[in-house]
Amino acid sequence: MRSVIVGAGLVGSAVALELARRGEEVTVLERAVPGAEASSAAAGILAPRVEAHGDTLVRDLGVESLGLYEDWVSGLGADVGFVRCGAVVATDSAPDPDARPLRGAALEAVVPGLSVAEAWWLPDEARLDTRRLVGAVHAAAARAGATFRTGAQVVALEEGAVRLSTGERLRGRVVVCAGAWTPKVAGLGELPVRPVRGQLVALGGRPAFNPVVFGAGGYLVPRADELVVGSTMEEVGFLRGVTAGGMIAVLSQAVSLLPAVGALPVLRQWSSFRPGSPDGQPLVGRTAQGWVASGHFRNGVLLAPLTARLLVAAMLDDAPLPPSWRPERFGRE
Ligand SMILES: Cc1cc2nc3c(=O)[nH]c(=O)nc-3n(C[C@H](O)[C@H](O)[C@H](O)COP(=O)(O)OP(=O)(O)OC[C@H]3O[C@@H](n4cnc5c(N)ncnc54)[C@H](O)[C@@H]3O)c2cc1C
Repeated sequence: MRSVIVGAGLVGSAVALELARRGEEVTVLERAVPGAEASSAAAGILAPRVEAHGDTLVRDLGVESLGLYEDWVSGLGADVGFVRCGAVVATDSAPDPDARPLRGAALEAVVPGLSVAEAWWLPDEARLDTRRLVGAVHAAAARAGATFRTGAQVVALEEGAVRLSTGERLRGRVVVCAGAWTPKVAGLGELPVRPVRGQLVALGGRPAFNPVVFGAGGYLVPRADELVVGSTMEEVGFLRGVTAGGMIAVLSQAVSLLPAVGALPVLRQWSSFRPGSPDGQPLVGRTAQGWVASGHFRNGVLLAPLTARLLVAAMLDDAPLPPSWRPERFGRE
């Protein structure tokens, strides 16, 4: 049976790639430009031990997904800037049991000019360039046989089909991967996914350090030719844009963490909407009308390979999904 995926963000394209590689017929319906929303806006941090905030379930699923990354990106046929760069975390308490203290000359050697004397080191965290990743996953899925239709806005799920804004109906096994917009697809059930705006800034120059650096209120992410600093967490609905207050928040935390950042030129700034969920974990599984993979919040890039693998195994092989990802766990579906 054909699978119909709603949304060509990283999650939808990763699921399409996995289905197509398993020999399934796949059509992906995207209302605008594949990958142009949260997925390409993301900073590209793959840091489950930092993002778990002590929740071992979140940590373990994140670590499992990160463990898939080397093989996953090497199968895409493009360089996506994936680096096992490690993370430096400038907080008072250890972010994770694996974190080791880093201070003095050792800290200065890893990140020159940091404003703190002590930090924590996590060697296995990674980063990549999300702009390259979304293009590579989309292209790999298309090469594997998935069909992408743009300008295709899905308005509702119906019995074994989706209805587009044009009135067209498309039958198939439906998987909704519409990011922060998931609850707007009528008929899916009441899923508590909400937009959480994040603003980011890219600064010029080749960064003098390799790891991702976390402070209490934000992060610095080196890329080949720029430094990305972020990010705000704003409950403003779908209000698009970059604000003076957002830029002040992002840049001031970056400068207080690494004063030399203040001299760097601003290249560009942008924002997008994380698909937030009440407990920070995604909603992945079957609902009354179809399948869903949404609500990946701050970790959708990290969790994309594991989401695709586990969801497709559930769809095709009836394999179990993590109970902590069940869409119905909030009791409203
Ligand atoms: C500022 C910021 C920084 C982030 N940094 C990181 C990070 O460093 N690491 C990390 O792991 N995660 C990060 N994230 C989170 C990550 O970006 C998201 O969790 C992930 O990209 C979600 O992917 P998605 O495919 O579900 O959503 P999206 O990328 O938003 O894609 C959803 C797609 O669905 C389409 N769509 C919506 N409704 C419809 C419809 N009705 N019909 C057809 N198409 C539809 C949209 O046009 C869009 O293309 C960040 C997010 C933001 C905003």
